[in-house]
Amino acid sequence: MISRDDGNSDEQDKGMAGMSLNGATQVLGIIGHPVEHSLSPPMQNAALAALGINGVYVPFSVEPEAVEAAIAGLWSLGIQGFNVTIPHKQAVMSHLAQITDVGKAVGAVNTVWRVEQGWQGTNTDVTGFIAPLKSSHQDWSQARVVVLGNGGAARAVIAGCMMLGCADLWVVGRSADKLQWFAESWQDSPLQPTIQTGLMADINALLPETTLLVNTTPLGMYPHTEAAPVTSMQLALMPAGAIAYDLIYTPSPTQFLKLAAQAGLQTWDGTEMLVQQGAAALEIWTQQTPPIEIMRQTLKAQLNPA
Ligand code: NAP
Repeated sequence: MISRDDGNSDEQDKGMAGMSLNGATQVLGIIGHPVEHSLSPPMQNAALAALGINGVYVPFSVEPEAVEAAIAGLWSLGIQGFNVTIPHKQAVMSHLAQITDVGKAVGAVNTVWRVEQGWQGTNTDVTGFIAPLKSSHQDWSQARVVVLGNGGAARAVIAGCMMLGCADLWVVGRSADKLQWFAESWQDSPLQPTIQTGLMADINALLPETTLLVNTTPLGMYPHTEAAPVTSMQLALMPAGAIAYDLIYTPSPTQFLKLAAQAGLQTWDGTEMLVQQGAAALEIWTQQTPPIEIMRQTLKAQLNPA
């Protein structure tokens, strides 16, 4: 756990710009490849500064074949904890001493911290994904949720939906083989979700009863911003007041969300999920309440520079 500097000075309260690194500075970071465009360093460094912590959050570019060596090196260097991003979220798991039930259920880890036995990992994308759903104070147990895509992010979405008690849960993809594998891969999971699967081509039959439609495909992500996973005619099949939730945060809104707004649906983008997964990680590392509004504003400033 990293802690507030007891000798907290006025200078530190000014934030990163007024904070100098010194011999006691504690280090957090993110491993990925590529990692240069990650928005986590500005967001987490703003949060550390706001908490008055003498710490810094650093991007580490790690090639896939170097994951094991990198993680051992981070341990030896006394790094306090780190995030994991593409393409290492699965690969990192075999190098951890402990993985939480959520991390095991998702089959991917994005947050790692030190425990006595070594590194422990979990998946805070789940917390990030469900944060806006919890804030909406709806009863999700009876709601039909349709998840577009069956990759890594879809796993975090399914785990989150299970935690919210969703019973009418669908995963829709373009490959019957991958969908079958996706459904079977939960058999040993502590969450034991009851998922139904369907092909994208058959989605129209599901939409009239769908309360929440989640896009976990990269369709519409920068630079292919004209793409969308469903058409405006399909979105028009959804009930009034239903929610279209896109995990993509750049651009915002995506074409999917623009079409959904035109169809009269509520629209949520992936920005809040990114903020909340980072906040959940910071809370694990520091045991302090994350300055969420500062993290949100820092992220928004990165996404929409003046
Ligand atoms: P992934 O593991 O590569 O999975 C992508 C899924 O999209 C796969 O099921 C893939 O289908 C499907 N897909 C890809 N291209 C498609 C197409 N042209 N038509 C239909 N389906 C297509 O990626 P991921 O890690 O899950 O990430 C997915 C998205 O979520 C990314 O845009 C990422 O930025 C976003 N995300 C956001 C957050 C956040 O904090 N907001 C967190 C995590 C991820 P196949 O299996 O058939 O190939």
